[in-house]
Amino acid sequence: MHSRSCLNINLSLLAENFQKLRSICSQNEIIFMVKADAYGHGLLPIVNFAHKELGVKEFGCATLAEAIQLREEFFDCQFEVYVFSDVQLQNKESAEFYLNRRILPIISNIEDLKSILENPCFKFLPLCLKFNTGMNRLGLPYNDAEMIIDLLKKSSRKTIHHLMTHFSSASLPMDNNKRNLEQRDNFANLKKLFLDSGLNLEKTSISNSGAIEQKVGLEETHVRPGLMLYGPSSLLEQYSEKSCWDGKIISSLETYILDSFSVERGQPIGYGATPCPSNGVVSILAMGYGDGFSTHYVGAEVAHGGLSGKVFGRVNMDMLQVFFKDASLSREIASGNKIKLWSNDPAGLSKF
Ligand SMILES: *Cc1c(COP(=O)(O)O)cnc(C)c1O
Repeated sequence: MHSRSCLNINLSLLAENFQKLRSICSQNEIIFMVKADAYGHGLLPIVNFAHKELGVKEFGCATLAEAIQLREEFFDCQFEVYVFSDVQLQNKESAEFYLNRRILPIISNIEDLKSILENPCFKFLPLCLKFNTGMNRLGLPYNDAEMIIDLLKKSSRKTIHHLMTHFSSASLPMDNNKRNLEQRDNFANLKKLFLDSGLNLEKTSISNSGAIEQKVGLEETHVRPGLMLYGPSSLLEQYSEKSCWDGKIISSLETYILDSFSVERGQPIGYGATPCPSNGVVSILAMGYGDGFSTHYVGAEVAHGGLSGKVFGRVNMDMLQVFFKDASLSREIASGNKIKLWSNDPAGLSKF
């Protein structure tokens, strides 16, 4: 029996990507971003490999639940875990996990900051502050920096464990995009405000993948790469010359052909009765949006067995169609054959 569809993760490619990253930012500590199930690659196996084989000592999760899972699975491992967005500090039971499981919350609003400063239990919790310097998503308001500094001093806090911000537009050039320049300026000012006020900054970071690829933010103690470690560049195609990244896609998505048949121009196919643009072959693949194959991938190119096809018509719950223009039925596209929808091998790569 075929397994329906398979996402293969190649950990030696992850190791290659990591070494490449290391050579770009040899002086920085790395927070390896593993939020959203390690970008869909599997939280536990990725962290296991990254910690034990690559020596990664800091991981960034999105949710407290992910962080707890890491602490439970790797209870005897000495790495740091940060929670970036779904911190749940207002919930007393959740908040206790930070103390009991040695997890670091990234504080990005005043209410959370106050609740930490006002609670004596959190007296020794290292403070990680994320400021909004222009992204306007989560983050302490840049314009309230002085008020926040006051608040910290009144609470007798002398040290910020980690001060950070996040770029909204790291897929655009860092050297001339107005937003990026402004965010870089704002972060520099922010650090100055903290230091001038006598507060101690232990660690700082500003760069996600797109910025690291442009060698920006490497003067900070830390970088926070996510996407690049899994392979892709974050830069928009028209700015690719700004990127020094040549990572390898560590996953390959494979499924198999349920059926293939010859079609004529105009012949309607499947839901929505999409007409075939020319004569050719339609292959029905055993993968759909129920498997996570987005309906937005219609039009993506699929290279297979020397043929070039396109995801065609509508993606269904459990199936999708690939249209091979001007092709005739051949061994490569016969039913039962495996087919790769993406991989690091350019022969099987499809463009989305
Ligand atoms: C997700 C995230 C990152 C990593 O972003 P990539 O673009 O995937 O490298 C870094 N910092 C923060 C705060 C994030 O939320």
